[in-house]
Parts: sequence; structure tokens; C-alpha cells
Amino acid sequence: MTVDFLIVGQGVAGSVLAWILDQRGCSVLLADDPALPSASAVAAGIVNPLTGRKLVHTWKADELFPFLHQFYSDIEKQLAVQFFHPKNIYRPFRSIAEQTDYSALLADPDVQQYVSQSVDNQKYSPYINNSFGGLEVTQAGWVDLTEFVRIIKGYFIRKNQYFEGRFDFSDLIIKGNYAKWKDIDIHKVIFCDGVLARENLFFDWLPYNPVKGQILTATVDNYSISTIVNQGLFILPVRPGLVRIGATYSWHDLDWQTTEDGRAYLENKLADILKVPYQVVAQQAGIRPSTKDRRPFIGMHPTQPALGIFGGMGTKGVSLAPYLAEQFARYLLDGEDLEPEANISRCVSLYHGS
Ligand SMILES: Cc1cc2nc3c(=O)[nH]c(=O)nc-3n(C[C@H](O)[C@H](O)[C@H](O)COP(=O)(O)OP(=O)(O)OC[C@H]3O[C@@H](n4cnc5c(N)ncnc54)[C@H](O)[C@@H]3O)c2cc1C
Repeated sequence: MTVDFLIVGQGVAGSVLAWILDQRGCSVLLADDPALPSASAVAAGIVNPLTGRKLVHTWKADELFPFLHQFYSDIEKQLAVQFFHPKNIYRPFRSIAEQTDYSALLADPDVQQYVSQSVDNQKYSPYINNSFGGLEVTQAGWVDLTEFVRIIKGYFIRKNQYFEGRFDFSDLIIKGNYAKWKDIDIHKVIFCDGVLARENLFFDWLPYNPVKGQILTATVDNYSISTIVNQGLFILPVRPGLVRIGATYSWHDLDWQTTEDGRAYLENKLADILKVPYQVVAQQAGIRPSTKDRRPFIGMHPTQPALGIFGGMGTKGVSLAPYLAEQFARYLLDGEDLEPEANISRCVSLYHGS
């Protein structure tokens, strides 16, 4: 048996890349071990073109956002499924000073194009502290990642192109320009192994800076807000009466365990925003595959032309993966250039052979 690509890891990165290569007509074998931890299984899946207190235009937002809306909606149409929920993000102001600061920021056309001018602040008032009003960020939303990963897995299982289990490096034989794995000849192996790439025999030299995150799920009776609320902390309505609340950021204690401190931090912040009672029903923790320079890791191994990586998606895998996977596919299939800021060639001085 021969395949064009073996994709190792099926979080959002592996799912998106496998889909794009499949749609380009390549034969793709997708492998994932559900027993291993996955950031995509924990993430809220939010896409937000303006982030932080200063409404910073996220990296390449003007390319990423139109692309991702089209990308996820096209899969929904093609497979007659639903997992993508375009929604505005409501940002209540914390003070008069903040309201004034935002008015100044809105003069910037780059920011303006992602902000709604007409916001019904009153509809939020019974639930959200918003005495100083607020604004809504447009072109935002969320991807139900559990559902998305399940749908893509089903698609490849139906094609008989899915391997469920651990990819073991000792099963891989590299033969110059191609590789052999379990008697399958593979043109290229692309690792989409998230933060586990730090233990990847071929890519462990890449400079990751992982960030642990925790998130709560809570019930809230009669909560009728359908947009995402964000004021340092997000409240994401996933279905009537159920919200996800997140997230924490921690650069130490990098395990996948939830903590009392994490929950207390989120609940303290929530007390400043949410006016109505809620009950926490679940808490989850994950590790974001963030990188030292906050740019993804994409490209081929410096000395092994059969091996590549598509990772380092950090805090924004859902918005980064579609556009960058399309670009990676064009690089692999059409010889086009990769985005230099995301290309792992920028880190090659750290590679000392392996
Ligand atoms: C609390 C929290 C909230 C977040 N919220 C958001 C958000 O709102 N929006 C957003 O865009 N991002 C968010 N993120 C970040 C997001 O989770 C990541 O950007 C994204 O999930 C990374 O996807 P990935 O596919 O690269 O890695 P992962 O999702 O970790 O997937 C890697 C996969 O590789 C598999 N794997 C690894 N090694 C092997 C092997 N040897 N054999 C077989 N399989 C293997 C694992 O099983 C796993 O399924 C959040 C993260 C956290 C922790």
C-alpha cells in the first residue's frame, strides 16, 4: 500500500490539514491515539479577530478570518453537518475611562471593520455587568471542536483511511525521500502532534513555550444571551442553559490536571461580570502548543525530506489552522512559498542533528 501523506495527530491542526490534502485529491492516512491528551478536546474553539484589552488586530486577521469562515462553512455544507457557530463577541467596558479609550481605538479603520456600531446593551443588562455599555466584535464565533474532530474522524474512517492508536517512532523507516510505516509506503509524514511534539524524535529541537489552560462548564438558568461575552474572561453559550467559562493561562505546572486555584481564579473573575447564579458542572485542563515567538511551526525537517510538521498553534489553533494548512498544501503540492514567520526554517540554527 502507498499513501501520499500520513498525518500523525488529529486535533484541529491534523483534522484541517488532512481535510485540505484530501480535497486536493491526495491519499491521506490520518492517525491518532485517543488515549493521549489533546488540547483540541479541551479548547473553547473561539475565533476572535480583535484580542486583548487594546483590541489588537490578531496576526494576519484580514487573511485568516474570511478564509476560516468560508472553510468551516464549506465543510458543513459538503457533509451536511453543523459545528461552526459564527457569533459576535460582546465586550462590556469596565469604566468610563475604558469607554473613552475604546472610542479612540475605533477611529482606526483596521479595528472598525471588525466592530458593530449598533449594540443593544439593554439585552445584556439582566445578566451582565455593563453599566458603561460595550461593543461587539464581528466575524467572530466558535467551532465545536469535539464535534468537528468527530466528524473528520468519521469521514476518514468511512474512506478506510484512519488508524486509531499510538504512532510509535520505532515503526518508522526513513528511506530518503519517502518513509515506510507498518508496511505502508508514505510519500510524506506530517506531524500534527500538538504539544507532544516536544517529545517528537525529529522535531524536539523546536522552541515551544507551552501554556496550561483551564476552563469551566456551568449551567445558568434562563440565560438568554446567544453571543459570546468577553472581558478578560469569556462566557460562551454552548446550548440553552449551558455555558463554558475560561480560560486561565499558566506557564508552570505543565500537566493536564485541573486545580482548585484554577477554578477559584475563574470564579472570582466571573463574579465581576455575571449577575445571575450558575453552577459549575465540569472543569477541564489542557496544554496549548505555544511557541517562544508566538508563531506556528510549519515546514519540512532540515535533513529528512519525508518528514514535516504542522503545529505550534498556541492559543489560536481554530483561526490559524485553515489558512495556514491551505498554504502548507500549496507548498507541498504546488511548490509555493510558506509564510516566512511560520516556517520552521526560522529556527534551523537550533537544529543540531537528530
Ligand atoms: C483551556 C483552553 C482553551 C482554549 N481555547 C481556545 C479557543 O477558544 N480558540 C482557539 O483557537 N484555541 C483555543 N485553545 C488552544 C487550542 O487548544 C490549540 O490551539 C489547538 O487545540 C492545538 O491543536 P493541535 O491539533 O495542534 O493539538 P492537539 O489538539 O493537542 O492535538 C494533537 C493530537 O495529536 C495526537 N498525538 C500526539 N502524539 C501522537 C502519537 N505519537 N500517536 C498518535 N497520536 C498522537 C494526540 O492524541 C492529539 O489528539 C485553548 C486551549 C486550552 C487549553
